[in-house]
Amino acid sequence: MPHTDPSYARLPGRFFARVGPAPVAAPRLLALNTSLAARLGLSADWLAAPEGVAMLAGNAFPDWATPIAQTYAGHQFGGFVPQLGDGRALLLTEFISTDGARFDLVLKGSGRTPFSRGGDGRAWLGPVLREYIVSEAMAALGVPSTRALAAVATGEVVWRDEGALPGAILARVAASHLRVGTFEYFAARRDTEALALLAEHARARHYPRAEGPLGLLGGVVAAQARLVAQWMSLGFIHGVMNTDNMAVSGETIDYGPCAFIDAYHPDRVFSSIDRNGRYAYAQQPNVALWNLAQLASALLPLIGEGEAAIEAATAALDAFWPVFTESLNRRFAAKIGIASPQAGDSALVETLLARMAQQGADFTRVFHGLASGAARDEFADRAAFDGWAADWRARIGHEPDPQAVMRAANPARIPRNHRIAEVITAAVAGNMAPFVRLNAALAAPFDARPEWADLSDAPAEAEVVTRTYCGT
Ligand code: AMP
Ligand code: MG
Repeated sequence: MPHTDPSYARLPGRFFARVGPAPVAAPRLLALNTSLAARLGLSADWLAAPEGVAMLAGNAFPDWATPIAQTYAGHQFGGFVPQLGDGRALLLTEFISTDGARFDLVLKGSGRTPFSRGGDGRAWLGPVLREYIVSEAMAALGVPSTRALAAVATGEVVWRDEGALPGAILARVAASHLRVGTFEYFAARRDTEALALLAEHARARHYPRAEGPLGLLGGVVAAQARLVAQWMSLGFIHGVMNTDNMAVSGETIDYGPCAFIDAYHPDRVFSSIDRNGRYAYAQQPNVALWNLAQLASALLPLIGEGEAAIEAATAALDAFWPVFTESLNRRFAAKIGIASPQAGDSALVETLLARMAQQGADFTRVFHGLASGAARDEFADRAAFDGWAADWRARIGHEPDPQAVMRAANPARIPRNHRIAEVITAAVAGNMAPFVRLNAALAAPFDARPEWADLSDAPAEAEVVTRTYCGT
């Protein structure tokens, strides 16, 4: 028996809706994260057996499950939607893991809930495998992230613009699914009592050393500032940074049209629905702060009254840029081999990035190639690199072990868009082997093994993915 403790489901009824099973025709386990299962105290053998698969498919729940759909609101592309909620997801329970940490277990694509509006509550195989691969890769890269426990095929089809597609369900694990939008939901209804319960629940869960709602806000601001700096250092674009897709835990959540940059440009956008570049690569810190301002304004009635409350909340938000900038500078300095950044190092990084942008050089390959000398070949105009490299070599000449610093900061492999596309195409045709291989390779992203060299290649012209799509 796993150690469960459904603390969110003990909050008042207006925080969620209870949801029963919505059985699917022929559940079949496609992928299982055995090491994560062990951490949760779940037996991988049980999960792979009919009873476990029935749970992962949302067909039948064990008696320790308390399935609910969570309530939330959110700003989507800047516009407020007062009621969103889990329209295609269920929170099964919370686990206390073998190392004492608390985790939500959620099914995504598990059928309709009272929050589904016009949607079918389902997901197709593509976005399920995409989230599996990218979230696990992020975790292996050391980025705070939700995790993938399992993927199950439903044996049913779902209808999308593309036509009939194979249905699937993702089992996802997260420190929590408390979103900025969860706070906005109650704030919009002026339900201060619920807001206070939620703030205390979130504080105790994620920032136990922080004091009160203002301490909670400060904790989220710092966690998000560090998270987005880490995304930037890996060329990651979340794609839909709506406030309902921002977790107060500081984990990356809701992998939809996300992408890793290949040919670098700060204005890069992949998401098909981001027409104005609101969530472009370089916009991410600005958007994170905008989202945090929504959290601050939701928390305001708990922080205090009048001008004093506004000043306190503003001061908490003002911590964003110093934390972000320090974190970003440290990460990018490490990427060029500098362990202790000094004034002037960020200019060196800026110059490199500007030249990469000018030439459309591959983000991951340039940085990974700095240690081996291969970076130069990523520039069509080698002179653009050589000019920068002269200054760079002079600078790292003063560093004790720049090679080791670079190797630890620059992955050999990230989940490349064209490789994910390949994995999905194969899986739709019934072949999971490319998924298994990509997933294994991304579990050790800093280890440049020859048998995985192809997974480090930039896309050939015909393979380039320019658009990514939501999982809806
Ligand atoms: P997301 O795109 O994951 O940020 O979702 C935004 C909102 O749309 C959330 O409230 C989801 O629960 C809801 N939603 C997304 N896809 C579906 C679907 N297929 N059926 C019902 N609701 C959905
Ligand atoms: Mg979402």
